[in-house]
Amino acid sequence: MAEKIKLNLNRVPMPKQPVAVRRRNFDEVALGYSEEQAIEEAGRCIQCKKPGCMKGCPVEVNIPEFIGAVREGDMPEAARIIKSTNSLPAICGRVCPQETQCEVACALNKKGAPSAIGRLERYVADWERAHPEVGEKQKERVALNGKKVAVVGSGPAGLTCAADLSKLGYGVSIFEAFHVAGGVLMYGIPEFRLPKDVVQAEVDYVKSLGVEIKLDHVIGKIATVDELLQNGYDAVFLAPGAGAPMFLNIPGENLSGVYSANEFLTRTNLMKAYQFPEYDTPIKAGGRVAVIGGGNVAMDASRCALRLGAEEVHLIYRRSEVEMPARAEERENAKEEGVIFRLLTNPDCFIGDEQGKVKAVECYEMELGEPDESGRRRPIRKQGTEFTVPVDTVIVALGTSPNPIVPSTTKGLELTRWGTVKADEDTGRTSKDRVWCGGDMATGAATVISAMGAGKRTAADIDAYLNR
Ligand code: FAD
Ligand code: SF4
Repeated sequence: MAEKIKLNLNRVPMPKQPVAVRRRNFDEVALGYSEEQAIEEAGRCIQCKKPGCMKGCPVEVNIPEFIGAVREGDMPEAARIIKSTNSLPAICGRVCPQETQCEVACALNKKGAPSAIGRLERYVADWERAHPEVGEKQKERVALNGKKVAVVGSGPAGLTCAADLSKLGYGVSIFEAFHVAGGVLMYGIPEFRLPKDVVQAEVDYVKSLGVEIKLDHVIGKIATVDELLQNGYDAVFLAPGAGAPMFLNIPGENLSGVYSANEFLTRTNLMKAYQFPEYDTPIKAGGRVAVIGGGNVAMDASRCALRLGAEEVHLIYRRSEVEMPARAEERENAKEEGVIFRLLTNPDCFIGDEQGKVKAVECYEMELGEPDESGRRRPIRKQGTEFTVPVDTVIVALGTSPNPIVPSTTKGLELTRWGTVKADEDTGRTSKDRVWCGGDMATGAATVISAMGAGKRTAADIDAYLNR
């Protein structure tokens, strides 16, 4: 009789910095598995014949195979398997919402905790970064095929598409508006969740595949998409993200001390305001800080404010925690660090002092009604519940929308009513010949892995199109 497999229902916990220490520093919170821990966690995977996990991964990492290699202690092979379909594994292992992608579909989920796929992916990617000689040997070198592709934006969508096309022999140039490549991975997600040397190492890997990155190049200003097509590029992939902040449009939003999360996080992360005066961008987040919103951006802004010296951070969100779009892990981290969740609460206006500086937020309570078009229960104002929260700083973290520079300078590009570019979900094709689009510019603010999936599918379609 076949021996019954004994399931280990609990995953190996992720070592983390102690709360009291980490809430005041910008070092990475999650410390990563040791080799022993990684092998033990990999041993929990039962190597399903028909694995559900892989279907949940938009870049089709062969999850059971790489976990099998980790279990054998064969890290070079695990890295080779992952890198064959995913050029940014150290990033994905840290910030992908695995709980709604691959891990949710893991067979172990039925009885206990799913395989810690993200943590293992991170372990393998970090192992490879610490052993560059192995990665170098495994790099595929391909002869150029003479065709050129321009990619607009160096976020996860642009980097993934560029890497895949380069591996197929295309000459690829990424045009990036900022002075640093990486998109939101560099300017939005804080150091303590995603260290910038990790992002830089993966950007360098993409460059090592032959991709050229032209920094400080704003497409729509220094050249239009049509000019790229006229000047020797056979195809253009638009991946400029959705970096324009949304506002509440309530009285007092222009007061001094009210930031958009974009500005607050860009100053903190990209301009390194947390190392002021060593870096010359200042930021103020002392005293009491209110953060408005309930997504990953709101969690990041709250936790940055704490680290920048805020005495209290109040997270103001109009629904309950169940409806919050932020990842469960990040909500837990924020609560552990002392962020105060003020749920079912909405701001009515900001109140300023005589100098035009914010000093309070006027709020009211909400209750939940029937589900709306997003599937979440609609928040409804409770009359007569107004109250005031004294504050020194406010950070508005409501979400983002596409920046209009590229669409407004590109003739023949059809847009949706939200200002995103209309692009085929499977191929990335737009209404304009030889122009593709993917990532947040096509979907609106989404996730790193959905942007990477779009970059991957588009690379395959550009290759098919140019080889007709
Ligand atoms: P982006 O990452 O926005 O990159 C676009 C790039 O294009 C930028 O570098 C920009 O400078 C450049 N660009 C723009 N216009 C031009 C132009 N005209 N010419 C040249 N270049 C241009 N997702 C997760 O999965 N997990 C998380 O934990 C998570 N946390 C987040 C936290 C924050 C604070 C934010 C803001 C987002 C977070 N997200 C998270 C969402 C995720 O980062 C985005 O969905 C993803 O980065 C989108 O990728 P993209 O390649 O489409 O665009
Ligand atoms: Fe392993 Fe879970 Fe994938 Fe099955 S579904 S192969 S247990 S990670």
